[in-house]
Amino acid sequence: MTLTIHATTDTRPGAAHPAYDPTPSIPLLITELTHEEFWARYAKARGDAEHFAPGYLAARETAALLLRAVIADLFALADPANTRAAADAAAAANRVRRKSLQMMLPANAARAWLRGEYEAWRNTESHPPNCPGHCRGTGIVMVTTTWQDDGAPVWAEPADCRRGEEDDPHADDCLCHGTGQRWNAESREYELCDRYTPGSDDARGEPRAGEAWSTGPYDEEPF
Ligand SMILES: [Zn+2]
Ligand SMILES: [Zn+2]
Repeated sequence: MTLTIHATTDTRPGAAHPAYDPTPSIPLLITELTHEEFWARYAKARGDAEHFAPGYLAARETAALLLRAVIADLFALADPANTRAAADAAAAANRVRRKSLQMMLPANAARAWLRGEYEAWRNTESHPPNCPGHCRGTGIVMVTTTWQDDGAPVWAEPADCRRGEEDDPHADDCLCHGTGQRWNAESREYELCDRYTPGSDDARGEPRAGEAWSTGPYDEEPF
């Protein structure tokens, strides 16, 4: 489940290499951050942190620092002229480095390093083994992405684990009309609408020419 908007490190011509590809979902980053922070602090608050496996709590704390720095970096990338935001992002990145006893880096180098760390975090066992999303620590779960017209699941694909939380709702101005599924007239199947895509005003009314998105329940014949 990926987003395709690309933040760029530099808006000058020829400098369009995306800083994050795909761009992380900030709401999902905050969900990730709050979970990591909770698990790290909960053990300490109840006073038995010493009973946790070595590395478990340290990994939670490091991930929380990493995710807060990524959010700061994305915020800074959205407004390259905001030097305060850029400095905050660099400082947050260096906080992650200090946690792992690495030397501080100059601002741009720290932010570049952060992006690599985030990519590595995503591609490893990023969630705790007891993740409530049942990803068993992989950060990836299988999600049904295709259904028959009678609602029977057809196909599932790996997607980012949302820690057991539901995906955010799509309003009815989305191409899926808020159902979370889009009708593919060619394959005659419903497909997962994996990203809220607000349309123009006409998305609310009749399907546009060439499109056949369903608005109804499964027991209606697709138009
Ligand atoms: Zn998970
Ligand atoms: Zn949708």
